[in-house]
Amino acid sequence: MPPPNGKDEPVKALTVEPGKAGSARLDDVDEPPESDGPVLVETLAVGVCGTDVEIVSGAYGWAPPGRDRLVLGHESLGRVKEAPAGSGLAQGDLVVGIVRRPDPVPCPACAQDQWDFCRNGQYTERGIKSLDGYCSERYRIEPKFAVKVDSSLGSLGVLLEPASVVAKAWDQVDAIGSRQAGWAPKTALVTGAGPIGLLAALIGVERNMDVHVVDQVEAGLKPDLVHDLGATYHHGDITQAGPPPDVVIECTGVGQLVFDVMQHTAPGGVVCLTGVSSGGRQLGVDAGALNRTMVLENEAVVGSVNANRHHYQVGADALAAANRDWLARLITRRVPLANWSDAFARKPDDVKVVIEVGS
Ligand code: BGC
Repeated sequence: MPPPNGKDEPVKALTVEPGKAGSARLDDVDEPPESDGPVLVETLAVGVCGTDVEIVSGAYGWAPPGRDRLVLGHESLGRVKEAPAGSGLAQGDLVVGIVRRPDPVPCPACAQDQWDFCRNGQYTERGIKSLDGYCSERYRIEPKFAVKVDSSLGSLGVLLEPASVVAKAWDQVDAIGSRQAGWAPKTALVTGAGPIGLLAALIGVERNMDVHVVDQVEAGLKPDLVHDLGATYHHGDITQAGPPPDVVIECTGVGQLVFDVMQHTAPGGVVCLTGVSSGGRQLGVDAGALNRTMVLENEAVVGSVNANRHHYQVGADALAAANRDWLARLITRRVPLANWSDAFARKPDDVKVVIEVGS
């Protein structure tokens, strides 16, 4: 019989040596240290995103200080096994771990729990930058960094981390748009129908906006998901994708598209960039024409990364208000931890692929 608290049992985890392609493997790791926090969580599922793919390919990621390997995984869903009294969490609660931790200085933003705006770059991120992630059978966490998920969401709670990223993006749009008297955006263009784009579109629809989504595919699950959300799907040229929008949420990081959307907004439009490009690609841009449009139309372009606790709460509300069947269709494959490498082999109709760690 395993001990009731699960201690002394080997902990299976997906680990990687950052910077080294092909180094990811399933490992037995040590019991999570108490120094990670008093809340012990059994992991149920971990989502795979572009950042994980980059880390596994050796292009991104940092191991914890003094170590070669990092436990992967920053999109998580788990069940609380132990939580101290007064922590706001209890055994059995479904929780999602926040990704980023404030820098130790701390900078003025981190000092006020806006670690997503860390100014000195010394922040850490679970499963990405210098802290072990959540793709292990159990982990420990501080209550402040564990967000409770509506139990009615069940396994769909694994979508909360990407939802928090788009909740922050919409928050940036609101902050910048509201510099204009009477800001009441009606139309939104979302570029990219991956998980981030579809969740950004969900929030736009929940705000009763006329939402248009552009991607490359002509047919299949992505157009169907956009349509079933009550938004309009387009493929190809963004100038054909509905009227010039009040808001653009750019979710591809494709350089050409980034410049194209900047020239295709309604006056006073806000473009929020969320896609991380790999860099190294040169483009010819008519900088004068772009500048002219942006100045004469009071246009704003803002970059947005990561999320603080408030954004997780807003993301959780957006998921709780969404149609469960629609959300379930975003998770196109669930792969057992033992077959983790299948999760990294992209299939054409993949939207979100999830590694099932526990049950
Ligand atoms: C994560 C963010 C993180 C960013 C950069 C993204 O995949 O969702 O939380 O800040 O990568 O590391």
